[in-house]
Order: sequence, then structure tokens, then C-alpha cells
Amino acid sequence: MRPAICWFRRDLRLSDNPALSAAAHQGRPVIAVYIHSPEEAGPWAEGAASRWWLHHSLQALGAALQAQGISLQIHRGPALNALQTLIRETDAEAVHWNRLYDPAIIERDRAIKAQLQADGIEVSSHNAALLREPWTVKTGTGGPYRAFTPFWRAAQRESTPAQPLPIPPLTGPALNSPLHVDDLALLPTIRWDTDFPAYWQPGEAGAQARLHAFVEQPVHRYDTDRDFPAINGTSGLSAHLHFGEISPRQIWHAAPAHESDDVKTFLAEIGWREFAHHVLFHHPSFPDEPLNPRFADFPWADDPDHQLLKAWQRGNTGIPLVDAGMRELWHTGWMHNRVRMVVGSFLVKNLRLPWQQGEAWFWDTLVDADLASNSLGWQWVAGSGADAAPYFRIFNPIRQSERFDAEGAYIARWIPELSRLPAKHRHAPFEAPADVLAKAGVTLGVHYPWPIVDLKASRQAALAAFAKIKKSP
Ligand code: FAD
Repeated sequence: MRPAICWFRRDLRLSDNPALSAAAHQGRPVIAVYIHSPEEAGPWAEGAASRWWLHHSLQALGAALQAQGISLQIHRGPALNALQTLIRETDAEAVHWNRLYDPAIIERDRAIKAQLQADGIEVSSHNAALLREPWTVKTGTGGPYRAFTPFWRAAQRESTPAQPLPIPPLTGPALNSPLHVDDLALLPTIRWDTDFPAYWQPGEAGAQARLHAFVEQPVHRYDTDRDFPAINGTSGLSAHLHFGEISPRQIWHAAPAHESDDVKTFLAEIGWREFAHHVLFHHPSFPDEPLNPRFADFPWADDPDHQLLKAWQRGNTGIPLVDAGMRELWHTGWMHNRVRMVVGSFLVKNLRLPWQQGEAWFWDTLVDADLASNSLGWQWVAGSGADAAPYFRIFNPIRQSERFDAEGAYIARWIPELSRLPAKHRHAPFEAPADVLAKAGVTLGVHYPWPIVDLKASRQAALAAFAKIKKSP
């Protein structure tokens, strides 16, 4: 039998991998390949934190394949050239891959499919990443959804997601890979990622371990715990999902008691991920342009030399919950969802900086950076997206902090210089009495910054800016 190529992309797992199962069908020899071609992703090639993850995930995939008796071939792009070379060298007759939904990748894959078919190669693409692909969920009039609730209702109506596929038996020719993972130079040259391994185990085994730990206990308190950043109340599966080390079908079927409110809420978050892909597919400019065109003329603030942006990026705004979140992001490559909303609102509304600047920073620093979910999150925060927060609802980061980090434990973890303050003063040290600050050894402006913006005045300025675009034709 002539071999089939399984082209791994963001489906870095062996189980429930339809492309791999199809390639290995009826015992056909399989050639597993990963092609590094960041230039083909347009402006949205993986950021630095994602590259760290990818490096380790490829190592894990290579080891998992090796344990099944086949080696992972690593090539450099352009992807079409790499595939054609591999086909020539191995006499492969078919190529299988799992679909991706980023606009630039859709275009590229279409062109590759057409060319390979013209070369006489059998080409099949599969769905490995979503419960429901974007074009399969339609409104009554056949169009796309712009609101989550009806989308998710419709998405769940059709049928229960298929049972996950087992790892297929694999055989393949003995091949030497032209490149090793190290040759791709994915790890940062300035090692700001040193804390990451304490938090993450990229790869399929790490994903499964996290899923099992989550469905064992935390899922049963998800509805209550998920909003408190000091608690490990969420699954931590986002990067595993982004790189396809686990499938939403596997999560769906591993989740216990679908009728409990906690599990329903958790699965609805998986639904938000589906919705994000739906919106991106139907609006390819979503990562760059506001979905609501009125926001195209939003009067953003001046930020000479990016001083405000830099203070936000480094967690030096003087607003503790914001700074704790930004420091969590820097140290771990992840940030709690509630805090993502708070830091996002602070950037876009209190500092009045364009949401695209926040989106770009998240893109570079999140290990779970995902074009669909990141765009959705930022346009939600900015009030310009699909099912977005109304613009006039501006988070007060101090109230959020008092409500969701009442003990100040999250703040103390990420801003140790404030940890000697009594909990009630950690939310707004600039309002604490002088003797309390002195006793805790905190001098504002020395150990911790004064706020870079007045929350009340900036809120008013944001509402005034919004009033201007509301009136525009
Ligand atoms: P859980 O609470 O355990 O949720 C389970 C899964 O559901 C997540 O792993 C994720 O895949 C999905 N999910 C949860 N919430 C959302 C959501 N609001 N939108 C889409 N999918 C969701 N998520 C990303 O995966 N990548 C991003 O780049 C990203 N950028 C964001 C930017 C902003 C400004 C905001 C407000 C949110 C962003 N999110 C993003 C969504 C959300 O914050 C993360 O998915 C979540 O914090 C990941 O943690 P978890 O895996 O523990 O989530």
C-alpha cells in the first residue's frame, strides 16, 4: 500500500484525530508531518508565548508518535512545497489534515488542496477542532448568528457530538526528519518564560491530566468558583484546546452530569469558543476591525511614546487588580477570565487606548492566544463586537477587586509589595491612610505606583467619547 500523509497543524494529539485515523485507515502506512510556515498565517503568526507552547507540544507529539512506531517529520514551509517534496520522496498517494478557521489559513489550504488534487493526490480535510463547524449553524433565514444564546441553543439542537475516536494502530516507513524541533528556534532568546513549566505541561498527556483533574472536582463548583481569580476554579484547558491537544468532543463526553448547572455553565464556555469561531468565519476582518462600524471612528486618547500602554503591559498602572492580572499574564502566559475583562476594560475605557493594542499584547504573551477567542474577547470588552458588553457598562476595577478578590489573595500573590497591607486596603492602596501604608512598608511612587489615571474622570471621558460616536450618522 502506498502511504498517506497526516499533516499535523493545530491538532497535536493522537486520540480523536480524524485526519490521523483516516490516514491510517485499513492499515495504510502513515507519514506524520509538521510544517513550520509562520509567514503563511499573515499578520497572525504565533506570538512568543504560543511559540514556547508549540515547541514543547511538538516534542510531546514526536515522543507519542515514536511510542507508536512512527516518527514525526518536521519541515519548513511554504507548506505546499514541503508536502510536494514529501510526496515525491515517499510516493504517498493521499494527504489528510484537520481544518483550521483563521482566514489566511483557509485561503492557503484551499490553494494547497486544489494544487495537490491537480497533481493527482487524494486530499481530505476533517473536523477535529469544533463541535459544530461555523457554516453548519444557521439562523432561521440561513444566515450567521450575532448573539451567543440563540447560537448555542441552535448548535446543541441537532445532535449529540460524536464519540471521540481511539488512537488508530499506526505503521509507517522509517524516515529521518530533515529538521528537529530545536531547529525551528521557537523558544525565546531572552528567557522570560522560565516560570511557565511550573504551570503547564504542553502536549496530549498534559491535556488529558488537566481534564481529568478538572472533571473530578472543580467542575462541580464551576458556577460559583469560576469568577474568583485566587481560586483554581476553571479548567485551564484553553491552550490545550487551541493547539488541539484535546478535542471539544473529548471534553464534552468526559464532562459528568450534563444537566447540573455547573456543568452546563462549563459547557457553555466551550460554546463561547464555538461562537468565536463562528463569528470569525463569517467576518474575516474581525481581528482587525470593529464588527460594529460605528466604532471605526472612536476618539481614542493620545499616548505619546506609548507610556500608558507600557505601564499597562508591565502591570504598573497603580490599580492593583489590573496590575496583578498583567503580572500573572507575564509570569504564566495565562490570565483568569474575570481579570481579562477587567484589564481589557481598563485599557479600552479608562486609558481609552485602541482594543487592537490590547489584542496584540495578549497575542504575544498568552499561551492560549487564539485568533477567534482573542478577537471576540477584545471586541466584547470594547463594546464593538458580537454580543458585546454595552459600552456604557464600564468595569470599576476597585469594585471588581473587592467583590472577586475580597481577601486580596490574588493581589498579594502577584504584587507581593502590597502583601503586608491589610486585605481591605490592597484594592486601592492610594486611598489607604498614611500610617497604614507606613506600617506595611509601602511608599506610593517608590514601592508601588500611584494610579496612572483617575478612575472617575476617565470613566466620564469614556462616556463622553462614546456619546460622540453614538451621535455620528
Ligand atoms: P474555562 O473557564 O475552564 O473554560 C473552558 C474553555 O472554554 C476554555 O478553555 C476556552 O477554550 C473556552 N472559553 C471560556 N471562556 C471563553 C470565552 N469568553 N470566549 C471563548 N472561549 C472561551 N480565550 C482563549 O482561548 N484565547 C484567547 O486568546 C482569549 N483571549 C481573550 C481576551 C479577552 C479580552 C477576554 C475577555 C477573554 C479571552 N479569552 C480567550 C477567553 C477566556 O478568558 C479564556 O478562554 C479562559 O480564561 C481560559 O481559561 P480556562 O481554560 O481555565 O477556561
